[in-house]
Amino acid sequence: MLSPCCKNDSIIWHKSKSKINNKIDVTCTTDNHDKPTLFKCKNCKLIFSEYYNLSFENSYTDVVDEKYIKQIPIKKINFELFFSKIKSYLSKDHDVLEIGSYYGILGSIIKSQVKSYTGLELSRHAANHARKNYDLNIVNESMNKFFDTAPLFDVIIMNDVIEHLDDPFKTLELIGKHLKTNGILIFTTCDMDALVPKIMKGRYHWIMPMHKFYFSNANLKYFLKINNMDLFKIKYDTKLTNIEYFFSKLSILFPKFKFIFQFFLKFNFLKKIKIKINLLDLNIYFAKKSKFLK
Ligand SMILES: [Zn+2]
Repeated sequence: MLSPCCKNDSIIWHKSKSKINNKIDVTCTTDNHDKPTLFKCKNCKLIFSEYYNLSFENSYTDVVDEKYIKQIPIKKINFELFFSKIKSYLSKDHDVLEIGSYYGILGSIIKSQVKSYTGLELSRHAANHARKNYDLNIVNESMNKFFDTAPLFDVIIMNDVIEHLDDPFKTLELIGKHLKTNGILIFTTCDMDALVPKIMKGRYHWIMPMHKFYFSNANLKYFLKINNMDLFKIKYDTKLTNIEYFFSKLSILFPKFKFIFQFFLKFNFLKKIKIKINLLDLNIYFAKKSKFLK
């Protein structure tokens, strides 16, 4: 298959065992972990899904993610941890844009720390939740439409978004054009050159139908560079979770051992214990808009 990044040849990186016939579930908390067939660009080594050509954008507008709403307390703790890693790049005179602001949890933490916060979110339900509960300025429209008239920003944030995008290359181009000089792009995604995805290959837990693109540090550096941004820092995106959530995910990954996880979940005190997870595969990327057009 011709790669969408470089229009180059690609090789099959993972062959899917199941054919996904039903509509792809794009909700953030979906338990549908069928693996699509994945290809790897021979030129830049980007890994992309057989579904990269399907437009998911319209499916996102109708997303209602009740399960996510239930998980907001743990999400909030996670976003606070994330915020502690990015806060040195935020200040009271910054205009900040978050692309894919979803239910507004990160926005609710950032808002009081910056001059202005704008969230861009396709899901009507999530956008309304964020406006109602956190009094956030959320724009509920497509990225192309938004950037047509958008001002310049000091900081643009994308948390676990880039792998979902229909056209991340176009998005990086739009971001490059809408950052002020020396403005910062902060985003998270998994690094396919890390040890865990290399060992797990097609069984890697972040591979799912709604994730279209799987990057590495090297090709991200390249995609940023051609859009006038310099990748200058990479931090680990450590996740916090509680045992209940962690075990429910493990039950899906290892159904044979489900009974063990279910047994431990009988103990209420265990359920709420929080654990930090860092498999060294999830990164926070920091890129600076360059002064000079390249
Ligand atoms: Zn490529």
